[in-house]
Amino acid sequence: MQTPVEKLTPYDEFNFEVPEHEFPKSGVSARAAAAIVISDEWTDTNPMLNMSSFVTTFAEPEAAETARRNIFKNYIDHDMYPQLFAMETRMVRWLHQLWHGPKGVEVYGTATVGSSEACMLAGLAHKWNWRQKREREGKDGSRPNLVTGGNVQIVWKKFMRYFDVEPRIVPLKPGNYRLTAEHLERYVDENTIAVVAIAGQTFTGEDDDIQEIHDWLDAYEKRTGISIPMHIDGASGGFVNPFLYPDYKWDFRLPRVQSINASGHKYGLTPPGLGWVVFRERKIFNEDLVFYVNYLGGEMPTATLNFSRNGFQIAVQYYQFLRLGFDGYKRVMQHTLNNAITLRKKLVDSGYFTIMNETQRIPVVAVTLDSKIKNFNEFDVSNKVREKGWVLSAYSMPPAAEKVMSLRVVVRPHINHNVACLLGNDIVSACQYLEKHGGSAKPPELHAHADEKTSPAKC
Ligand SMILES: *Cc1c(COP(=O)(O)O)cnc(C)c1O
Repeated sequence: MQTPVEKLTPYDEFNFEVPEHEFPKSGVSARAAAAIVISDEWTDTNPMLNMSSFVTTFAEPEAAETARRNIFKNYIDHDMYPQLFAMETRMVRWLHQLWHGPKGVEVYGTATVGSSEACMLAGLAHKWNWRQKREREGKDGSRPNLVTGGNVQIVWKKFMRYFDVEPRIVPLKPGNYRLTAEHLERYVDENTIAVVAIAGQTFTGEDDDIQEIHDWLDAYEKRTGISIPMHIDGASGGFVNPFLYPDYKWDFRLPRVQSINASGHKYGLTPPGLGWVVFRERKIFNEDLVFYVNYLGGEMPTATLNFSRNGFQIAVQYYQFLRLGFDGYKRVMQHTLNNAITLRKKLVDSGYFTIMNETQRIPVVAVTLDSKIKNFNEFDVSNKVREKGWVLSAYSMPPAAEKVMSLRVVVRPHINHNVACLLGNDIVSACQYLEKHGGSAKPPELHAHADEKTSPAKC
């Protein structure tokens, strides 16, 4: 039984039993509530040590202050917060230019909750464009498919299932973890709404072979008359490629690339809750997906999946773009990549690991244990370094490379050289320990029941 809160002494307030299944009856003091929340948080990972995530965990005090000032602004209230909206549309134009969109076109794009929402919007635009074209030609528009690689992020699988698009996923194979033009002819046809290629994939940090896919689709069009657009999932690469590889054509410089998404909250350096989708030009974002709302006498287009959401991320992204500029992002990405290279070298030099990503673009270190190591695996290494607080991802690769296990470290800008060395040493020491004592971790079963981990604490 819960003790009625009004019977609690101020001292007991801090120690009352938090109900697990019923709504709390009456309140406690602000201090007690805060104390309970804080102590509940204690055993959560320190986000700074979470090296399995791409999401930004650092903000300068001025950025944090910008977030705090804007925390109560509802993004969708453009009439109340026209300047927040102006920042967003200005940044969409900046990104269109950064990603080499054509000049002289009407630019269209939007801020989203993350790349997931951005990918869904782009996918919908391509689905609508494809269907209308089919209908205009008097052809069947009921069986859309989307082609992408087995290295695709989960959002695309969600998009295809939620919006009834047939998945055509080109499997990986051991040693090749990216989408190339090889075998594409078995996957694309007149019902393909788009080919999604990734810039900075989650498993190895590599880019799909964007140029080769593009050229293959050009030749396919010549051969068949079927023109298939490309979408670039630049969730991570969208904020790395422009700064580190200015001559590399992964973006709107390739004419077939019609839309690009990126996560502001990954290498865009904004706290969680911000993505971007930018279209080559306004008409790619199908007009039927746009709703018009009257604001301040003008008509504003709105076309996001979400309505209300926090607006502070937009203000912080604006702060970051102004604060760093192109030069600043370039500097930050370069030091981050250098630290990834340092860590990767340390792991390879130890003799325990081989690298998985021959081409290094975003600062991700993806390694697999050397085949001579038999008595422990990547999951053991991940568990062992967890003792020091580090969180590293260990996983089996997607089909048909599922025999390959991987250990992945996402190097983010807050990791300096010293910390990269410390982490490298901790990983190598974990291997030395495991080599002596053996490991016991089993890779988790596919589709394992997630509820084991999330069941409430029982006393
Ligand atoms: C992270 C990621 C996503 C999903 O983006 P969110 O910002 O987490 O919603 C999609 N695609 C790729 C390649 C990603 O890395």
